[in-house]
Amino acid sequence: MSRFNDFTLTKNQQLVFDLLKEQGVKMSAYEILDKLRGSGFSAPPTVYRALDFLISKGLVHKIESLNAFIACDHIHEDEDSVFFEICNDCGETREYSDKKIYSQIYRHTERKNFKITKTTVEILGQCQNCMDS
Ligand SMILES: [Zn+2]
Ligand SMILES: [Zn+2]
Repeated sequence: MSRFNDFTLTKNQQLVFDLLKEQGVKMSAYEILDKLRGSGFSAPPTVYRALDFLISKGLVHKIESLNAFIACDHIHEDEDSVFFEICNDCGETREYSDKKIYSQIYRHTERKNFKITKTTVEILGQCQNCMDS
């Protein structure tokens, strides 16, 4: 795991990361807090601080439209290629990567002289399982 080389996780960061990985689904900060109450987490700021760090290292992604968090299940060098498909019914969230989507957006904003601070591509809809049932 080469991406762990340049930093160490604190106990809290490790607990949040392990929980998200183990759950394998998106979770809100309050859901995380609920699960970690027994491990010394008592208030949302503790959770948010851990999440901020994990996000900055690319270990966790924030799903902006749902204000939820998900462990990153693969290594990607470029954060600017990640997008999500989120099922409205079961909440399943899948991560994909495609640089072309983002380069289109950048070309557009450059032409319009708009300075990007953050870009998030999140596609809401219905997953195959929910369509079939
Ligand atoms: Zn990722
Ligand atoms: Zn679904």
